[in-house]
Amino acid sequence: MWVLWFQKPVVSDHMRLTVLGTGTIAFSPTRSCAAYYLEAGDARVLIDCGPGSARRLAELGIPWQTITHVVISHFHIDHHSDLPALVFAGKYGMLPARTAPLDIVGPLGTRALLERLAAAHGEWLMTPGYPVRITELAPGTSMDLGGARLDCTKVPHTPESMAYSVSHGGRRLVYSGDTGFDAAFAQWAAGCDLLVLECSLPQTMAIVEHLTPEQCGEIACLAAPRTLVLTHLDPPVELVDIKALVAARYEGPLVIAHDGWSTELGD
Ligand SMILES: [Zn+2]
Ligand SMILES: [Zn+2]
Repeated sequence: MWVLWFQKPVVSDHMRLTVLGTGTIAFSPTRSCAAYYLEAGDARVLIDCGPGSARRLAELGIPWQTITHVVISHFHIDHHSDLPALVFAGKYGMLPARTAPLDIVGPLGTRALLERLAAAHGEWLMTPGYPVRITELAPGTSMDLGGARLDCTKVPHTPESMAYSVSHGGRRLVYSGDTGFDAAFAQWAAGCDLLVLECSLPQTMAIVEHLTPEQCGEIACLAAPRTLVLTHLDPPVELVDIKALVAARYEGPLVIAHDGWSTELGD
């Protein structure tokens, strides 16, 4: 008698964000530079990888060996300096050495950045013994991350700066990267489940390239996310009452992230 085994395809709506670094280049004992680990279906995505992110991955017990994509928001060093270390770790930091491809995704100019880094560190950065695939995204385009969808839009910070969104299983996460105030970005983020927004400086130190708590509240008011998460906190911004300043403009749930903060978006 034949016994038939029907294997149900596993479709995972799983989406979990773990914040690795909530600080800036103003070094902090508690806040590492920008880095976010996102599990979305089969994708294991590191969004930004500033200094300290490799350390945080290890501390939090995240299987960094299985990261599938590294997505870079812009070319400031507090958002990408641990990328060469991550590539090198795939070659010499694990046994057996990595064979799976690593996708590096970023704005136009990412390939040139990698070539400059390879000129400094060595050719192994582009050819570490496993495929390194570089994808440059123009603002407004999208990419498949093995089942999850990555979208991007331009934000006012540096000429190449982009914000990203990852959609999977009916949920959407938006990450601003570094940005100044931009109503168009707020519109683009509208209705997302999780809005991860930079909140760099207090009003007294405001500059057009970064956000204040007041501006975070205004963007959240326009975007109306299910939950607002603030990150990229420069030490002086922590001296003001961030929660009150945001709450005066936006009534929804607010999290001031700390390194290691994690949340599930899917089911
Ligand atoms: Zn930054
Ligand atoms: Zn920046």
